[in-house]
Amino acid sequence: MHHSWSKYLRQILAFLAATTAVGAFFGHGFWGLLVGLAVYLGWTLVQTRRLYHWLNNPGAGDEAPESVGLWGDIFDGLNRLHQSHLRTRDRLQAEINRVQESTNAMRDGVVMTDARGVMEWWNGSAEYLLGFRRQTDRGQYIHNLIRNPAFKAYFDRRDYREPLEIRSPAKPHLHLQIQISLFGEGDRLIVAKDVTRLFQLEQMRRDFVGNVSHEMRTPLTVISGYLETLVDHVDELPAKWRRAITTMAQQSSRMEALITDLILLSRLETGEQMVSDHISDIAALLADVSADARTLSGERAHRILVDVSEPHYLRGDESQLRSAFSNLIFNAVKYTPAGGEIRIRWWADRDGAHLSVADTGIGIDPVHIPRLTERFYRADPSRHQDTGGTGLGLAIVKHILLNHDGKLEIKSGVGKGSEFICHFPRQRIAEQPPAES
Ligand code: ADP
Repeated sequence: MHHSWSKYLRQILAFLAATTAVGAFFGHGFWGLLVGLAVYLGWTLVQTRRLYHWLNNPGAGDEAPESVGLWGDIFDGLNRLHQSHLRTRDRLQAEINRVQESTNAMRDGVVMTDARGVMEWWNGSAEYLLGFRRQTDRGQYIHNLIRNPAFKAYFDRRDYREPLEIRSPAKPHLHLQIQISLFGEGDRLIVAKDVTRLFQLEQMRRDFVGNVSHEMRTPLTVISGYLETLVDHVDELPAKWRRAITTMAQQSSRMEALITDLILLSRLETGEQMVSDHISDIAALLADVSADARTLSGERAHRILVDVSEPHYLRGDESQLRSAFSNLIFNAVKYTPAGGEIRIRWWADRDGAHLSVADTGIGIDPVHIPRLTERFYRADPSRHQDTGGTGLGLAIVKHILLNHDGKLEIKSGVGKGSEFICHFPRQRIAEQPPAES
């Protein structure tokens, strides 16, 4: 029961008054008061002692001691506080258990580490997918358990917009997609998703495209061979066949170009063509390609300018680089009306090396630019009948640049001409000409 403070004060004063009165009755009022105070002090000491023991002895039970009067009230108050504290604790614990249970039930592996990569917590799926062990791995560096340079670089980069794909360190047949989130003070939440099935499907798709192109190449070579012979003797043919034969020959050579590009693209994708660290002379390469471009331009007489500054050596696969640069330069010729200008520029600066191919051609509507490097994507299908393009050129360029840690930048507008810039990182620049072998 709740009593007001003044009531307790009155009770104490009444008690002291009573003892003083009893003392006065025996002629010693002062002693009566003193005895009353002493009794009250004693009572208070006893209660304080009980409180002290309860507080310092957690095993003594969940209930605070019982008493009467002011002390009874204090103990009741403490009891209420204590009980609600216990309830809160139980509720929080239940919530933590639930969160842990649900993350444990997740199919994705979840790992929490601090900023340096010290493992703090992970779920059951992380044990399965990444091979962590509950007993021994807590407090270890995650880089000791996932020994993969790509993972280390990704972890340290702190830019996690794109996920990373790696093989599982514990089960090499599993392909994992790693996504990291930052929280707290640089702490990392790492989510590992099993993408093995997707990876296999991708692989199947690539193999299929590669195989089909290979299989089609031989019959196609035979057909175009005969067609070419026929075209050579087109004058001897009956007039009604001439047009048909010429068109067939054109289309079959177009198909051959397509097959060649498909095979190259599938090689680039499967990583079959690894990038060598060969040092390529970009000046010589660009001189070659621009000569071919002049031939392609022919009567359309584009002004083709080449401007190469030092250093012009790049570490990379020369035939891939040639293929990428000629795709860009031939596109410029294809999509620039007769008499236009094509400016090819190579330079190096603090950011790395750059190749720019700028033309004064028809340009591209900026809405198409983000999708231009997709296979068979064409900015405006109606205007491509005559260019004979395969629609794979820019996809090839993008893959080759990826192989060389580079990026493709595209600036354009309808009627304003286009500029395609390849950016290569600084590490790829070589100061030395290639060693004579
Ligand atoms: P294609 O074989 O059709 O040229 P690409 O992959 O090389 O295929 O190019 C994709 C599309 O990008 C082209 O169809 C064209 O619409 C556009 N494109 C590429 N280069 C240029 C350029 N220099 N000027 C204008 N449009 C271009």
